[in-house]
Amino acid sequence: MKLNLLGSGGVAPPPRPCCNCKVCTEARQKGIPFLRTGPSLYVYDAGLLFDTPDEIRIQLNRENIDKVENIILTHWHPDHTQGLRVMEQINFNHLTRMPKGRPINVFIAPKQLVMMKNYGSGNILLYLESKKIIKILPIEHREIIELGDIKVLPLYIPKTQGYYFMIVENRSKVVYAPCEYHEFKLYEEVKNIDIFIPHHLYFEDKTIGTGADYSDTEDSFEMMLEHSGQMNAKRIIVTHIDESFGLSHIELNDLCKTRFRDYPIEFGYDGQIIEL
Ligand SMILES: [Zn+2]
Ligand SMILES: [Zn+2]
Repeated sequence: MKLNLLGSGGVAPPPRPCCNCKVCTEARQKGIPFLRTGPSLYVYDAGLLFDTPDEIRIQLNRENIDKVENIILTHWHPDHTQGLRVMEQINFNHLTRMPKGRPINVFIAPKQLVMMKNYGSGNILLYLESKKIIKILPIEHREIIELGDIKVLPLYIPKTQGYYFMIVENRSKVVYAPCEYHEFKLYEEVKNIDIFIPHHLYFEDKTIGTGADYSDTEDSFEMMLEHSGQMNAKRIIVTHIDESFGLSHIELNDLCKTRFRDYPIEFGYDGQIIEL
């Protein structure tokens, strides 16, 4: 299985416009891996994209991705869906005014689609479907999405009404949990996995970074490490990394060698190729 971590940032990835903090300044000066774009992941063998953040057009071009046939929208939040119109750019011919190819399959949980219509850009999805650019398909808990050799198992998080996803090819298993990580629920299928790619959560240890605390809406980083142990994850690649922790790419990876050295953990970066 080959994956590309197209975007390793979260809701406010560095550099934030108009911010001159040290993390944003360094990101602006040095670029990737200090600079991050919004959360997305690409699975090569299935032409599968997880989420469409604002910068998705730039991400796909940057990584020379030439095929997007399937999109899984993990949840409605704007940082994961504001780039939806990229589907029109990929699959609409503006000369013939017809779709270029078969509709792109867009998988989304029915409840998340309702939320998107209320608060996000859900009506754009309906517009794209009316033009036959996409086809909307429902995500349901434990209903496997089969994309050739790749199988994706959506797993429900009751607290947030969101999902995380286990991507399986032959014996390889990757768990992607980019958001909605609160009272994370482990299921029996999620055991002995190769790679866990979770959200960057707040640290219980307030000596790290800015001491940001999101305990009202998220599990902690330390709890996530426990979950990865329960899954027996061989490797952890943290994503959805925001500027609010006040830590640069180097400082984050230094933490992996010191405070968290007992765990097989690293912090991801934009364009990181993950092969297994
Ligand atoms: Zn997010
Ligand atoms: Zn900043």
